[in-house]
Amino acid sequence: MTENTRPGSGAALAAGAVEEPMLRVEDLHHSYGTGAAAVHALRGASFTVRRGELVALKGRSGSGKTTLLHMIGGLDVPRGGRVVLDGTDLSALSESELLELRRDRIGFVFQSFGLIPILSAAENVGVPLRLRRAEPRARDERVALLLALVGLTGHEAQRPAELSGGQQQRVAIARALANRPALLLADEPTGQLDAATGLAVMELLRAVVRSEGVTALVATHDPQLLDLADRMLELRDGVVAPG
Ligand code: ADP
Ligand code: MG
Repeated sequence: MTENTRPGSGAALAAGAVEEPMLRVEDLHHSYGTGAAAVHALRGASFTVRRGELVALKGRSGSGKTTLLHMIGGLDVPRGGRVVLDGTDLSALSESELLELRRDRIGFVFQSFGLIPILSAAENVGVPLRLRRAEPRARDERVALLLALVGLTGHEAQRPAELSGGQQQRVAIARALANRPALLLADEPTGQLDAATGLAVMELLRAVVRSEGVTALVATHDPQLLDLADRMLELRDGVVAPG
């Protein structure tokens, strides 16, 4: 097969023949443990996410949502199948390449916020930029812009314990966006928030997906989030349910 005829190659994209999705998940399998005690968390999950889409991932507790997000984000390695992020097959990467991809191309938002307690809001948002050795002035500008984007201007110096849950999740979203990731992964981001705060956080996610041009996959039970998404996927027993 020549370079120019490969689907998803530059030539094919330029011709408008194929749009490589931002995310392609193919027949993903994962289990924990071995033998009779093995838990099959993913049993052949397949789907794609287009560029700029906000996709909600629903499914009851234990259906495999967190496992799936971990595989997509390169936090764990699937036992079968493939994750292709923006044309890059994660299984083809070395450990250091995977680390770089995780750092530079993926933003994570967790249910429990995951902020560093001794750092201020601004310092937390700046962590991914420091890891990338961004120039301090550019870093400070980006941090200020992100805090404004999530509505936290004026809260720069506060530590996580001095912020409400909703504010902490806003800081976490700003941090996840710091490196302009290709893909934002959020695992039940409103799970620890009351309904009104959860809705505000979801609306923020909706807004940043538009304004930052990011693509997002958000695991949630929250019916309010389901309404704001472009599309919904449902995991049932480790596979994406039809329809
Ligand atoms: P969800 O996020 O939808 O609740 P999970 O991906 O956390 O689902 O879990 C899917 C299945 O895998 C469940 O049966 C769960 O108990 C099991 N599981 C998840 N993580 C582990 C682990 N580290 N060790 C063993 N079993 C696990
Ligand atoms: Mg989970």
